[in-house]
Amino acid sequence: MSTDDIETQKDPSPLQSEGDVPGVNRPLLKLSGVGKSYRVGDHDLSVLRGVSLAVEEAETCAIVGPSGSGKTTLLGLCAGLDDPTEGEVELVGERLRDLNQDDRADLRSRSVGFVFQNFQLIPTLTALENVLVPLELRGERSGKAQAIELLNRVGLGHRVDHYPTQLSGGEQQRVALARAFIHRPRILFADEPTGNLDEETSKPIVEMLFELNREQNTALVLVTHDPQLAALAGRVISMRGGSVVQDEKPA
Ligand code: ADP
Ligand code: MG
Repeated sequence: MSTDDIETQKDPSPLQSEGDVPGVNRPLLKLSGVGKSYRVGDHDLSVLRGVSLAVEEAETCAIVGPSGSGKTTLLGLCAGLDDPTEGEVELVGERLRDLNQDDRADLRSRSVGFVFQNFQLIPTLTALENVLVPLELRGERSGKAQAIELLNRVGLGHRVDHYPTQLSGGEQQRVALARAFIHRPRILFADEPTGNLDEETSKPIVEMLFELNREQNTALVLVTHDPQLAALAGRVISMRGGSVVQDEKPA
């Protein structure tokens, strides 16, 4: 019997351990020896090496590091959008390797939120319809009042029927924030959420991101180039050349 089998026997139903099993205090996200390489021409390009880390409930982490250091790749692996070539990723108590694409999509729609640098709103949907997408993916038809409340919360109550092209970059990102929080995710991944915005526009967005995270007790894993933004996080993980070189919790 392998150690994996023993693990499985100890905890046959990981879905039931969502935070309410006494004595079971699993991290929300756990990476063990994660590596990623890509086949480029006739050789392997290693972009992540030996990344091990755990993120706890409601924790806020900033991932910083130069361009090309593997931050976006890491976020994709954490969320099960891509597979590591080495190591294991556990997200909300599930080992991602054991889940097929449908199960991963289901896990994400239950527990994970995303904010991207380029907003990624659906252009043919209004602001309100965009915010409702995560609920619709779960087959929920209600939630309109809640979506309007969140759009109000991000200062866009008067723009609910506007399409993304009718909104500025900052406004689009605020719609994306409302969308990311509508299903009360346990963990939210944000990849340079203010990277395409000027400083003045970024500030309220960053404040809202952290406020919503606090209100909903969502863990936040945030990739950023912005030292001021990183300083708001409870923990800063620094990457260089595909490895974590520093992981600290500033006082
Ligand atoms: P960051 O987000 O820190 O700027 P990335 O995770 O986007 O870094 O990229 C890390 C490295 O992996 C870069 O050198 C990039 O060129 C490489 N890379 C990313 N995706 C691929 C791919 N699909 N094929 C080959 N190389 C890739
Ligand atoms: Mg990136």
